[in-house]
Amino acid sequence: MNHLRPIKQLPTHEVENMPPYIGNQDLWKNDKNLREAVNREGAGWAEKNLSAFGHLMGCTEMFDHAEKANKNPPELKAFDQYGNRINYVDYHPSYHHLLGVAIKNEIPSFAWNHKKEGSQVAHMALTYMFSQVEGGVMCPMAMTYSVIPALKHNPDLEAQWLPKVLSNEYDDRDIPIDQKLGGTIGMFMTEKQGGSDVRANSTRAKPVSSSVGNGSEYLLTGHKYFCSAPMCDAFLVLANTDVGLSCFLVPRWKPDGERNSFFIQRLKDKLGNRSNASSEIELDDTFGTMIGEEGKGIKTILDMVIGNRIYCAVSSASLMRQAVVQVLHHTTHRLAFQKKLIDQPLMKNVIADMILESDAAANLAMRVARSVDYQEEDENEKSISRIFTTVSKYWITKRAPYLIFEALECHGGPGYIEESIMPRLYREAPLNSIWEGSGNVMCVDVLRAMQKDKNAISSVFNELEKARGLNAYYDLNVDNLFLELKNPEDLEIKSRSITERLATLMQASIFLKNCNEEIASAFCSSRLGGNWTGAFGTLNSNTNFDEIIKRALPT
Ligand SMILES: Cc1cc2nc3c(=O)[nH]c(=O)nc-3n(C[C@H](O)[C@H](O)[C@H](O)COP(=O)(O)OP(=O)(O)OC[C@H]3O[C@@H](n4cnc5c(N)ncnc54)[C@H](O)[C@@H]3O)c2cc1C
Repeated sequence: MNHLRPIKQLPTHEVENMPPYIGNQDLWKNDKNLREAVNREGAGWAEKNLSAFGHLMGCTEMFDHAEKANKNPPELKAFDQYGNRINYVDYHPSYHHLLGVAIKNEIPSFAWNHKKEGSQVAHMALTYMFSQVEGGVMCPMAMTYSVIPALKHNPDLEAQWLPKVLSNEYDDRDIPIDQKLGGTIGMFMTEKQGGSDVRANSTRAKPVSSSVGNGSEYLLTGHKYFCSAPMCDAFLVLANTDVGLSCFLVPRWKPDGERNSFFIQRLKDKLGNRSNASSEIELDDTFGTMIGEEGKGIKTILDMVIGNRIYCAVSSASLMRQAVVQVLHHTTHRLAFQKKLIDQPLMKNVIADMILESDAAANLAMRVARSVDYQEEDENEKSISRIFTTVSKYWITKRAPYLIFEALECHGGPGYIEESIMPRLYREAPLNSIWEGSGNVMCVDVLRAMQKDKNAISSVFNELEKARGLNAYYDLNVDNLFLELKNPEDLEIKSRSITERLATLMQASIFLKNCNEEIASAFCSSRLGGNWTGAFGTLNSNTNFDEIIKRALPT
């Protein structure tokens, strides 16, 4: 309702020095950094598409739907009036509207429907724009995008499900998938006794007949403790057979046309991400088809998890961008001590520092998306994709809550008030660092990936070498990190520091190779200069603050 024209003259006072409602945003045109990153990483051909979507998604109507979908969270209707179990989750119409917009605009399917160089980059740019408006819808969208590589483990299931998940039609009817125009797929891994450590899963799967292994039918019994988007049409689920942890595709409806017997016990009351339902589920002789090799379920489902991790990084970068946009608007219109906030020297430092962080996050995310584009034909890009998907999931999702908190504070009191978008961004921010592998798990995984892939360290350093000689802090940090990785002692206990430096060095290298020298040097001297605490507003006083801020302002 923020866009309703307010009454300025009240009986007791005139409302002054309050920013106007931000109104329509053009999420593509206004974002120079995003446009440059998309071009640089090879998706310039998608500009028409991205431009139309940025214009559509940034309009006030979409932000209003997002607000309504979050203020009216989904409700579980476990039973109908006669006590029949229906497992229905009732979402607000605004949630359905946003999900419809997402699917129509190929948020889960663009890269797969337009497979060519740069399609992953274009896909992630769409995601980046959508996620600035609403985070909850992104959960089923991320999983539906990410399931595609995992479906390849079984050609029959792939043939059945692929046309549905790549469809541009949103079909919210709870009916068997063969009658639907399109579908979505989620994943159930986490159990009470083990989330990060899925090997602790206790759910059992027994074969329906003598046929066992990939493509065979099983009945699953156990529980799953965190199951988001439970209205999806199917789920990849981990369960144990006698051979070991295996992966199953569990549909809502069985092939005989009956409802599958999985039971939504309750919806979680979450800190944020409130438009999205996250549930607890009991499986009781629940029908599923094994997908992938028996006993290799983690390997199969990891093909899905990887895509979700990229989404986490991109979504967190996008939350940062929206927070920065809100700050730029507020501080441009609010005066304190006779000056616009944006012109106060210390506020300039805070804002410029946030812009550097937000742009660096978007740049890194788009670079990772490019590596996904090229991973099949280029060994170096394959290694970069493997390492930096995890690095960016760790670092970007870690930085988002700090930046958003700082951005909220830039608004003063109104930033803490629920009519502002800031509380919603703030509550959304920590989630991306928890699901799909929490911080420590990511850092240990970076080390594991480096140890497993003999090409990894050389691919990473070849990439970092491309910016050598452009900044002394950068060169020194690359050398130090290389030496540190050569010494295998205590690597695990140091893995946060290593992952953080990999992230900031890759971000620095992108700035150094492609951006205005002053911007690159501000990033390097703060992040790599040796005194960095991570707080915003600590750039050197000789930084060209105006240049950094000007670049981020809506064009
Ligand atoms: C809103 C929400 C929705 C979710 N939706 C889903 C879903 O749809 N499907 C699904 O399967 N899961 C889902 N999850 C679960 C999520 O993926 C897990 O919560 C997450 O993987 C962490 O597992 P855990 O909660 O068991 O924590 P734990 O595994 O107990 O981890 C707790 C802490 O210990 C750290 N830790 C773990 N192992 C190590 C180690 N070896 N060394 C150092 N530190 C370590 C972790 O980094 C973490 O900080 C959801 C979670 C949330 C919050």
